[in-house]
Amino acid sequence: MITRDLFPLLQCPTCRSRDLYVADDGLHCASCTHIYAFADGYIDLMPRDTTYGYVSKYVSDEAELAEELDYRDLAPPLLAAGVRDRALRRMLRWRPSDVALDNGCGTAKHAVWNARHVGLMVGSDPATLFADEAVATVALAKADSRSLPFAEDSFDKAFSIDILEHFPIDVIDDYLAETARVLRPGGRMLAFSNTREMSPIQPIINLSRRLGRLFVRAGVYDFSREARRKSDHLKSLETWEDVLAAFDRAGLRPVRVVFWNSLFTTFVEHVLMKLGEAVMGRMKDEGGRMKSANPKSDHNDSEVPHPSSFTLHPSSDGIAREIRARRRMRSQLRPGSPVYYALMGVTLLMELDLWLFGWMRCGSYFILVEKPRSPG
Ligand SMILES: [Zn+2]
Repeated sequence: MITRDLFPLLQCPTCRSRDLYVADDGLHCASCTHIYAFADGYIDLMPRDTTYGYVSKYVSDEAELAEELDYRDLAPPLLAAGVRDRALRRMLRWRPSDVALDNGCGTAKHAVWNARHVGLMVGSDPATLFADEAVATVALAKADSRSLPFAEDSFDKAFSIDILEHFPIDVIDDYLAETARVLRPGGRMLAFSNTREMSPIQPIINLSRRLGRLFVRAGVYDFSREARRKSDHLKSLETWEDVLAAFDRAGLRPVRVVFWNSLFTTFVEHVLMKLGEAVMGRMKDEGGRMKSANPKSDHNDSEVPHPSSFTLHPSSDGIAREIRARRRMRSQLRPGSPVYYALMGVTLLMELDLWLFGWMRCGSYFILVEKPRSPG
C-alpha cells in the first residue's frame, strides 16, 4: 500500500536529499528533480541514473517469475517458513510503536505476517512480486538495498530473511551498511541466512535423507521435482567468522545467535511430508502435485518459500496446473482447518531443532544485531 505514514521517512534514493514533495503523479525531489511514481500499491523509489554490477534474478527475470510464481496469494506461516517467522518474532520482540523494515521483502510475506504487531511495517524490494495481502497491509517501496530511499535512523527494527546468501561480498557490505544507516541507534536487525558450514550432527541428519531416498527407490515417492530446483545461492559468507566480520564492518553488534541444525526439520521434509504427500497422492487425482503448496525445500540449502526455490518450468500448461493445485491446497490451509493444525504440529516439531540444537554452530543461522547507541 501507499501510506502517508511512510513519507516522513523518505529521502531521495538518487541524491539523498530529504526535500521531497508530494504531487498527484508521485514524489518529486526538489533537489535533483527526479520523480518517484506512485505505482499500483507501491512507490517506485529506485535510484535514477545508477547502474549496478550485480542484479538480482528477481529483477532480471521478473516478468518470467511473475508468471511462474503465483506470488499474489499467501499461505499461512507453516513448516520451514513458519519456523523462521516464529523465530523472527521471538528474537525481534515487536512493540506496537515499532517502525519496521523488511529489507528485500520478496512477496513481503514476513512483513504481512508481522504487520499487525507493529506501528508501521515497510517492505522494500527491487522486484515487485508483492502478494495481494502485502499491497493491502504493508507500506511497499520498489527500492535497491544499496541505496535505500529512507533517511538515517528511520527504523526501530529491520529484518533480512534469505537474502545474504544471494549476494556477492561487495553487495552484502552495501546492504548491511545501508540497513545500519536507516536503523536508529539502539535499533535491531534480525538476519536469517546460510554459510557453507556443516552441522556437527550432519551424519545423523543424513539418515533422514537416506530414508527419503529409500522411498524413491521403493517407488513411494518421486523426487524428480526436487532435482529440477535451480539454486542462485552464492553463499559468499562461507564461514561463521565471515558472517561476524561482515556485520562488524557495518558497525552492527551481535546480540544473539540461534543456529538451525536441521535434525527434525530434515526428518519432516524428507520423510514425514513425503509420506504424507505419497498418501495424499493416492487419495486424490493429480495428488502428486499437492506437494507444491508446501515450502518444499532442502533446508540446508536454505529454505524456500522464497521464490528462488521454484524453478522455471518449460511448459506453461504445467505451470497452470501447478498453480491450480497450490490454490486447492491453500484453501485447505485456512487457520482452524484440520490440515492447518496438523501442519502447525509439524512446524513445532521442526522448531525443536532451534530449542535443542540452537547453540550448536552450523550453516543456517539467525543473528540478531544492534546498532550501537554511541558510535565507537
Ligand atoms: Zn534527489
